[in-house]
Order: sequence, then structure tokens, then C-alpha cells
Amino acid sequence: MMYNQILVRFGDLTLKGKNQNFFLKSLFKLMKLKMEGLNVEVENQHDRIFIHLNDEDVNEVIKRLFLVSGISSYSLVVKCSTDLEDIKETALKLMEEKVNKLTTFKVNVKRSNKDYPMKSPDITRAVSGYVLSHHKLLKVDVHNPEVELDVEIRRDAAYLYNTYERLLGGYPVGVAGKGLLMLSGGIDSPVAGFMAMKQGVEIECVHFESTPLTSIESAQKVVDLVKKLAKYAPNNKINLHLIPFKEIHVALLENIPESYNITIMRRMMYRIATKLAIKKNCLAIINGESVGQVASQTLGSMNTINSVTNYPILRPLCTYDKQDIIKISRDIDCYDLSIKPFEDCCTVYVPKAPATAPKLDKAIAYEKAFDYEAMVDRAVENVNSIIIDKDSDLNLPDLGLEVTEVFQEMRKGN
Ligand code: ATP
Ligand code: MG
Repeated sequence: MMYNQILVRFGDLTLKGKNQNFFLKSLFKLMKLKMEGLNVEVENQHDRIFIHLNDEDVNEVIKRLFLVSGISSYSLVVKCSTDLEDIKETALKLMEEKVNKLTTFKVNVKRSNKDYPMKSPDITRAVSGYVLSHHKLLKVDVHNPEVELDVEIRRDAAYLYNTYERLLGGYPVGVAGKGLLMLSGGIDSPVAGFMAMKQGVEIECVHFESTPLTSIESAQKVVDLVKKLAKYAPNNKINLHLIPFKEIHVALLENIPESYNITIMRRMMYRIATKLAIKKNCLAIINGESVGQVASQTLGSMNTINSVTNYPILRPLCTYDKQDIIKISRDIDCYDLSIKPFEDCCTVYVPKAPATAPKLDKAIAYEKAFDYEAMVDRAVENVNSIIIDKDSDLNLPDLGLEVTEVFQEMRKGN
């Protein structure tokens, strides 16, 4: 079938009262940015958007639609003349293409051209009668049809569609403000970042890197993951802040009892993330924690860790099942990267028996063993901030992060 247009709907957006204008403007802009380079026109029509395909590849356009947060569904539309015979023929073709087993259907007619010589119910009868008489596998069901065929008659032409596919939903990225994503190289945090973006949150990313204790490959993996997320950002770019974490990491290994190592490491991360978020005008911190997944994500642990900050912490995945997280990770093309086996500061030197219910008073007492405040400030000061484009070819060794021999030595000695 030669489709002429794609009809795109907003869903939830229409409910936003006074903010509606702002949302719609942002959405329209985002849509245009994501269609850049394609030979299509984007037409804004109050509560929906039409993409005129011209001769552009429809599959490429659909691929781009999946990068636009804030749109809920699309339909592929065929345009024909307003002549009833033409409408009937087009309707039949559309149904034949889609239906190959016994199926119930319903025709909906909308006539925005009120001068059209027939009324909607008559058009409905004419079209459904024609389709029924030529297509043996169809039956009408006006209450609960499996397929709906929509016919819109406007002044210039008639528009027909019978597909309905879901898109990302949520809100246009940026309308909800900006958050700082704690991005590790694992499966969860990129998904958490995507979920936040989908909900309208623009993100910057922070990664705590302990080179040369940890491999440079694990930090490079983070760069590559940011590239994947950048596809959803309006201008295809995301700021990544690499925090030099080695000094704190060593201090933790030297001063903190093993079972509290992760708890206190995470308290340090939260402290640094809070300071950086304030500096970068991010109004919340986002991470990939999911209740119960590991020792540091029991409610007891979260409570002790979280108490170092009063900043809002968003945990988009907190109740998600790992299988569901993996599915999204695959959908956003992060999974194969995430499972690459490089160690980061949370996977190297993992204590054999981490505390699952670390006590706040104990954590505070242990932390007194070293001057962490100065270290936290130094880490924030020495942040390495880079802008990552979706097509970036940045290699971290070019930034002077160096590793491997020391890394190997440290690993042997442990
Ligand atoms: P992930 O799959 O995202 O690595 P995880 O299940 O392995 O998560 P943890 O390693 O305990 O869980 O980390 C929990 C969250 O803390 C991560 O989802 C991420 O948001 C943040 N985090 C962990 N390590 C780092 C790091 N090195 N830099 C930045 N954020 C981190
Ligand atoms: Mg991790």
C-alpha cells in the first residue's frame, strides 16, 4: 500500500490544561528535530500531528517516531479523492491488506467538510457495505470490533486508515525540567535514564570512575551508553560528567570495614551527585536502583544511603522486574553494551558479605575514619565534563585517562 501520511496522536498531553500550549510547542519542535534530514513535512493540527511522507521511506520515519517522547500512537494514512467510489475502493484495499482471517470490523466516518453531499451515516453504510460484499472474512461489530477503519473527509481529499500502533508515550523530553542521571555501565541505569527522559526529564549524566583501579573500558562503555541515550535528547547531545573517584575508592578500601564498603561508597556517590546536581541546575538525581535487587537496594540500605541528601531521588525502576528492565534495555539498543564484562567501582572489590541492613549510626562512625568532605569537594572540582553526541567517536584514552598496568597490579594484590 502506498501510504501518504502518518497521523500521530499525543494521548496524555491533551489533559494538561494551562500547560497544554507549552507541551504542544515542545512536542512539535522535538518532532521536527527528529525528522531532520528526511523529506517530510510536519503539520501541527491542534490535537494531532500529520507527517506528510512525500516519497520518504515510511519505515525510516517510523524509526524516528520512536525517538520522540510525548507521542502516544500513530496510524498510517492513505489519501484519496473525495469521490465515494474512490473512497470505497481505497477502503477495500486497506482492509484486504490487513485482514487475512475472520475478523470483526467497524467503519468510522468523520466529515469535516460539511458541504459534502452525503451525511456520515450514509457514507458509513456505503463503505462498509462495499467492503463486506467484496471481502468474505469480515463481519461488522460496532461495539467491540477487532479492526476499525477510519474515513475522514476533508475539503481537499479523503483520508483513510485502519492501523493503530503505540509509540513511546510520556512527555516531550525537557518539559519536566532537568535531572542528573547516575550512570554506571550496567543494565539498569541507562534504562532509568531513558524512562526519565520519556517522562519529560532532560538529563545530564554523572559517572564515578576509579581508573586505574577499574578498567578504562568500563568508563568507555559509559560514553557509548550516553551515545545511545543522546538519540532521545532534542539536539542529540547529553553532557557526561566523569567524576574521578579513585581517591575515595582507595580511602574506602583502606578505612572502612568490608561489609560497609558499598554502603559508604554509595553515600559518597550521593553526596557528590547532590553537589554536582546543584552546580548543573539539575532539580533531581535519577538512578537505576530497584528494590531488593542487591544488598545496597534493600529498603534498609536505601534508607541509610539516602540520608546523606535531601535532594529528590528518582528511581524509575524501583518496582520493576529485571526481565522487564532487560526488555526495555534491548528496545533502546543498550543491552549488548551493558552486558560487556568490564568492572566498575561497584563490581570490583565486591565485599563477600555486604550489609543488607546497614545502620546509620555505624555508617556515620565509620566515615569519620577519613576526611571525606575534602575528598568529595575535590572530586566535584576535578570533574571531567564532556558533551556526547549520538554519533560521537570519543575515545577516553584521548582524555588522558590511563590504566591497564596499574589496574592489573592492584587486582593481583587483592
Ligand atoms: P546498574 O545495572 O545500573 O549498574 P546495578 O543493579 O548494578 O545497576 P548498583 O551497582 O548497586 O546496581 O548501582 C545502583 C545504581 O547506582 C545504578 O543503577 C546507578 O544509577 C548508580 N551507580 C552505580 N555505580 C555507578 C557509577 N560508577 N557511576 C554512576 N552511577 C553509578
Ligand atoms: Mg552497576
